[in-house]
Amino acid sequence: MRTITLKNVSKTFYDKSRKLTPVLAIKDFNLHIADGEAVVLLGPSGCGKTTLLRLIAGLDQPDKGEIFYNNIPLDDIAIEDRGIGMVFQNYVLIPHWESRKTVGFFLRLRDREEEVPAHVNTVANITGVDIESLMGRFPRHLSGGEKQRVSIARAFARDLELLLFDEPFANLDAKFRAQARVELKRLIQEFNVTLIYVTHDQVEAMSVADRIVVINAGRIVQSGPYQALHDDPDSLFVAEFLGTPTINAFWGRVSDGEWDGSYMGRAALPRPRPNGSDVIVGIRPEHIKIGSAGSGIPATIDRVIPFYAEKYTLLEVWLRKRRWRVQVPLDERYEPGETVHCQLAWKRALFFDADSGDRIR
Ligand code: ATP
Repeated sequence: MRTITLKNVSKTFYDKSRKLTPVLAIKDFNLHIADGEAVVLLGPSGCGKTTLLRLIAGLDQPDKGEIFYNNIPLDDIAIEDRGIGMVFQNYVLIPHWESRKTVGFFLRLRDREEEVPAHVNTVANITGVDIESLMGRFPRHLSGGEKQRVSIARAFARDLELLLFDEPFANLDAKFRAQARVELKRLIQEFNVTLIYVTHDQVEAMSVADRIVVINAGRIVQSGPYQALHDDPDSLFVAEFLGTPTINAFWGRVSDGEWDGSYMGRAALPRPRPNGSDVIVGIRPEHIKIGSAGSGIPATIDRVIPFYAEKYTLLEVWLRKRRWRVQVPLDERYEPGETVHCQLAWKRALFFDADSGDRIR
């Protein structure tokens, strides 16, 4: 049983020499993670993901606010009783320890070294490779991906309640990475472990998470399952951050109660806005169809980019003076320079206040 609660947590980094301005990395953060939940912290570089993970692990102290494990303040729980398995981006392995010693450390301290092989086996299943052969080696004899496997084995070889993973599969081959995510998900469900997983990769987030917490500049901007965030974002930030290819965003101004995108035409707003206010409309590339001549807005194809694995082609088109992304089926053939007619699914359009970025619903 392991729940995590963050109440009004803030963290500022101060430069000891006082030459640099303090960085407010985490701002008044509130989050509750249920027992056995897999939560992904997703956000751009520098948004505070790693800082948050370090605070939850107890490696750093918040300046304000409190962190609770099962409603008990983290500071009141001894480190050895926290039940945390951690894998960080740089997987800090002790240079003069063989992998076997690293992986077995926790269990050896408790005279339970005989349990180590079973844990190593578990990790071999997750990463899809034989890690037994790595057990006799020192970190300097391991590749980046191999170090990562050893640090994952170390995370599992203990009495585990909470896994804290910071981009754990970044150094695995693409094939193993996809498999590792699936296996990880299966294992956390099987063992009822709570998982907090940091990434800036939305595909990774989608495949691991029950819930994604999107962070920007040290704050939660929205949280929920991937599809809900993708289809129903609260802000332009979330709309642009989730979804591949990226949503098209066009500026317009309200006139006579409607969104007026000049050459793009006019559209009804979901809620009345004062005339003259700036509004951005977002249309996902999959919500634009290529129609027959005269059936849509004419545009010139600039680039044709096939995505074989994802089974679509991305067209980058010039529509008057703006560049759009349009997603078409892989089997449709287009050439750069060709004129096409774009039909916009206005019903699927999302509207945002241009100043705040907030969704207009
Ligand atoms: P990335 O995806 O690039 O790893 P992140 O979202 O994990 O980024 P953090 O590493 O948590 O971001 O950093 C959040 C902010 O705090 C950044 O502006 C970073 O420069 C700053 N920061 C992090 N650690 C320190 C530190 N020890 N001293 C000063 N500033 C720091």
